[in-house]
Amino acid sequence: MHAEAVRYDAMPSKPGLLHDDGRPVRCDECDIKYHLHYDSEAETSITFCSILADEIVTALHPEHRSNVVLDLAPLGENHSQKSEVLWSIRIPLVIPLKKKPKHSLE
Ligand SMILES: [Zn+2]
Repeated sequence: MHAEAVRYDAMPSKPGLLHDDGRPVRCDECDIKYHLHYDSEAETSITFCSILADEIVTALHPEHRSNVVLDLAPLGENHSQKSEVLWSIRIPLVIPLKKKPKHSLE
């Protein structure tokens, strides 16, 4: 199972991946555009992949590499588990980056 977000001006890291123009991935901070490339196994979880890719690309801001490979290992191991469980793994990665330091001591 493989899925990756590929920057609009870059090439996927593997040949022969499927490609969905209808699901652009964007960084919330700077609106840079990525396309989702995935294999036929990941296609069944493509909605999840697209949400995950959005989160990861935004979390990596402003470091926008040409390829962002999604870690889909939890999906492959636990087909029966719901996506909420996977979200709980991802949320701690994203939230600290969203917090802006405030000088509230004065
Ligand atoms: Zn960005």
